[in-house]
Amino acid sequence: MLSFFEKPRLRGGVHAEEHKTATAALPIATNFPLPDKLYIPLQQHVGKPAEPVIRVGEKVLKGQLLAHSQGMISAPVHAPSSGVILDVNDYPAPHPSALPIRMIVLETDGKDEWAEAQIAADPFQLTPEEISLRVGAAGIVGLGGATFPTAVKLNMGRENHIDTLIINGSECEPYLCCDDRLMQERAEQIIDGVRLMLHGMDSRDAINRVSTNAVVAIEDNKPQAFHAMQAAAEPYEQIKVIQIPTRYPMGWDRQLIRYVTGKEVPVGCRSSEIGVTIHNVGTAYAVHKAIRYGQPLLSRVVTVAGGAVKRPMNVEVPFGTLISELFDFCEVDKEQTARIIMGGPMMGDSLPHTALPTVKATSGILALTQSELKNTDEQPCIRCAGCVSVCPAGLRPLDMANNIRINQLDAAVDLGLKDCISCGCCSYICPSNIPLVQYFKYASGEVIARQQAQHKSEQTKRLMDARNARIERIAQQQREDELAWKAAKAERERLKAEQEALV
Ligand code: SF4
Ligand code: SF4
Repeated sequence: MLSFFEKPRLRGGVHAEEHKTATAALPIATNFPLPDKLYIPLQQHVGKPAEPVIRVGEKVLKGQLLAHSQGMISAPVHAPSSGVILDVNDYPAPHPSALPIRMIVLETDGKDEWAEAQIAADPFQLTPEEISLRVGAAGIVGLGGATFPTAVKLNMGRENHIDTLIINGSECEPYLCCDDRLMQERAEQIIDGVRLMLHGMDSRDAINRVSTNAVVAIEDNKPQAFHAMQAAAEPYEQIKVIQIPTRYPMGWDRQLIRYVTGKEVPVGCRSSEIGVTIHNVGTAYAVHKAIRYGQPLLSRVVTVAGGAVKRPMNVEVPFGTLISELFDFCEVDKEQTARIIMGGPMMGDSLPHTALPTVKATSGILALTQSELKNTDEQPCIRCAGCVSVCPAGLRPLDMANNIRINQLDAAVDLGLKDCISCGCCSYICPSNIPLVQYFKYASGEVIARQQAQHKSEQTKRLMDARNARIERIAQQQREDELAWKAAKAERERLKAEQEALV
């Protein structure tokens, strides 16, 4: 880690209006009534969707496996409460398109009856591999929004000799404060999760062994969380808790790594390749619950906020809870709601309605009024270069947007479109209200669609070529067989003629 005087400058970013004070001051609400039905998507993570192991009509207990992970990168899904499986079918996804995805519908029985749990008497006696296995079996994924399976990261940690584990407590998006409250209220459990993660990444390769230190990085607008975490980490030399500047998008992994370690993650590389890995504070808390109590990931703390919310709060909800039920609990004024956002206002997704479930990635649900939305009265670019100076990825947003406008997507890619993290800083700062990030989201989607179409046509061509080659091989074989048959026939006739001549 760099010393204080060597701290590198932050690249880009904005001081966005925070809107956190009211919600961050309230304790996490744990009295959310258990919904009658939970809609549990089979894909709440990066990787392959989970595969159901239950049947419709089956009774299940809380924490029971509903769907197992498939392949190297995937995560299982568990019952957030006890009840009966009503359906396994397609339902609208919590996504701007609300297109249907596969979900398990669980009718809860109100008993919240737990399945038997696997608890280790002393988890530090478990092997690092066993820690990873238990974390994987608990369905834990990155709760900062990335939803990458945590066990896979722990395994990569052992393989890549990680020297720094960064625990991301920056929570830089406006409105969101679920991590802040979690750190204030459950600091000891989070630090225990961090220790278990360090143990899970411990390589037993005695020769190349690297000792890993953990750094919990918290933005300096969360002093209570910082002090709680510092007190909880105090007995452990391996864990440091530091304050970092409040500046969006401080939580972006490359920005955070640069700030905390001074290292730059090369383009196209993973942070583990430079000896650094990042997990969110919520993930560390989930690891603590999984290893200490054998509890799979079944719920999370969600920030419900925005001008249309009468009772803004951080509330713990089981996965599969419909947003409509969450909004009823928090008394959201539907008339006043101009936009519903899952996540934060900068990088979150606008949702078309509230009949959509909360999932592992749901850090917040916002009900914003018209006055909270950015002015959409777009004006011509005045070439102020504000968008260039705030871009944390070092791009030239105005040039990329100009190329996208005239459908020159390749030129936009050459200018770094693929490095855009859709953080929205450029749109936020633009005095002409140009929706730059919308251009980049659209263009990135187009580029991916084109690549997939090209990949598909190349694959079709490969299949056609292989088919033609196979037909040609068969035809050639037939020709050779026919020639051989004719030669054999001629030989038989010759021999027959010879025999007849002898007689
Ligand atoms: S911030 Fe807006 S007005 Fe300024 S250069 Fe960028 S696109 Fe143009
Ligand atoms: S949205 Fe993309 S182009 Fe705009 S500031 Fe963020 S990274 Fe840069």
